Amino acid sequence: MQIDAVKCIGCGQCRPYCTMDAIDFTRSVKGNKVHCTVDEEECVDCGICYRSGVCPTDALFQPLHDWPRSVRGTFSNPLAEHKETRVPGRGTEEMKTNDITGRYKQGYAGMAAEMGRPGTGARMRDAEKVFKALAQLGVEFETNNPLTGLLLNKQTGEMNPEVLNEKVLSAIIEMLIPLDKVNAVLETLDKVATEIDTVFSVDLVSKVALDDTVPTAEIMKKNGKWFSYNGKTNVGLGHLRVKGGIAQ
Ligand code: SF4
Ligand code: SF4
Repeated sequence: MQIDAVKCIGCGQCRPYCTMDAIDFTRSVKGNKVHCTVDEEECVDCGICYRSGVCPTDALFQPLHDWPRSVRGTFSNPLAEHKETRVPGRGTEEMKTNDITGRYKQGYAGMAAEMGRPGTGARMRDAEKVFKALAQLGVEFETNNPLTGLLLNKQTGEMNPEVLNEKVLSAIIEMLIPLDKVNAVLETLDKVATEIDTVFSVDLVSKVALDDTVPTAEIMKKNGKWFSYNGKTNVGLGHLRVKGGIAQ
């Protein structure tokens, strides 16, 4: 995002909308006018300041960026489309609708590390550190996830070096793991969390077992880790698969 210094009257109304605290006051060269500028190194091109519509002089504008800067907008602006998946957003919808799609079957867990959430943003170089740590455990990264699309090597977790300095509002690493690997993955995430300059939250998805327990919740309880149950109903998404009267 950029601000037209001629149009900007320095009212500051756009500043509270910035998710990255990237908008600041500055004085013009002659010193007789205060206007705002965007720290483009910290700006993630989320477009929230622009879409808020608060600017009284129409001074905010979003330039079209080339690769690799373009990555910021596609991961941070929910209205932008990813070239890899052709869908907006940061992860795959089906993770939220597992009980309908059956993507993660009994005995497996879907797991995600939501980089940059809540509220800090994340550099791709930190996402790569997490990718590399997880790759050593042989996890299967989700092919249809836009962040996976930036990997050069799924076996090592190496990302395209051109994007490493890019900062995004959030980016989600998604993977499929057998339930007996959940502990090892959690331990690895605990360790790598101390090596990165951002935060992430972890999602764990599993089908409810036949005895009505949630296998991933049982694992978290056994480890003494804090978690909250989360349910989400997305009407109209997914395809119900039924075999012998049982949703698969
Ligand atoms: S596009 Fe987003 S990060 Fe950039 S200045 Fe606007 S609100 Fe801040
Ligand atoms: S709202 Fe518009 S005029 Fe006011 S500081 Fe922001 S860019 Fe400048």
